[in-house]
Amino acid sequence: QVPVLAIDGPGGAGKGTVSRLIAARLGWHLLDSGALYRLTAQAAVKHDTALDDEPGLARLAETLDVAFLAEDGDARVILEGEDVSLAIRTEEAGERASRVAALPEVRSALLARQRDFRKAPGLVADGRDMGTVVFPRATLKIFLTASAEERARRRLLQLQESGTDASLSSLLKEIQARDARDMQRAVAPLKPAVDAIELDTTELSIPDVVDRIQRLLAD
Ligand code: C5P
Repeated sequence: QVPVLAIDGPGGAGKGTVSRLIAARLGWHLLDSGALYRLTAQAAVKHDTALDDEPGLARLAETLDVAFLAEDGDARVILEGEDVSLAIRTEEAGERASRVAALPEVRSALLARQRDFRKAPGLVADGRDMGTVVFPRATLKIFLTASAEERARRRLLQLQESGTDASLSSLLKEIQARDARDMQRAVAPLKPAVDAIELDTTELSIPDVVDRIQRLLAD
């Protein structure tokens, strides 16, 4: 059985960075499941599909024409031949993603595609429901958290690095709204799997988190 490391948690807890680093260190594949929801929302905009047209969105999710390319350590995401790497990372794209992600038909349309990422020698799966729904028998399940304030601060730094201006208070509000939607939805709500190990990263550096998870994986 190909090993799976499931890393779940709210947005901004460091899952993306930590997952990428661990996958690179181990030489494992990486599943950025949030990107699939972001891409479904992006495809909806492109094809003028309303964000409440559940069957229409599920069809888009099912047939997503997407390629994940790794270029000079830089991950590029291609949707229908178009580079959308930056477009899917905006706050607006995240907000749309969390709306389509609340629809059960969209979630089930993406299930098989996510499971296909499980290939030798192993998979690091980053998301909200990796340990609860997509890979319930994962080798190790980690639930990463951090205070909403800390996550807003990290997001602000990230935006500033890419030359975008934002205010801490509006980011905090967006993070809290997205947390609420992700935790309160009826299907696959954001919550730790019963057998997940919770790691609060508020006061931890990225290398500390990576080391801790690698040690847990080696146990
Ligand atoms: O992780 P990321 O911010 O890219 O995810 C965007 C949105 O997609 C999340 O706010 C969440 O609503 C949704 N998502 C999900 N299940 C996943 C990954 C992401 O519902 N496994």
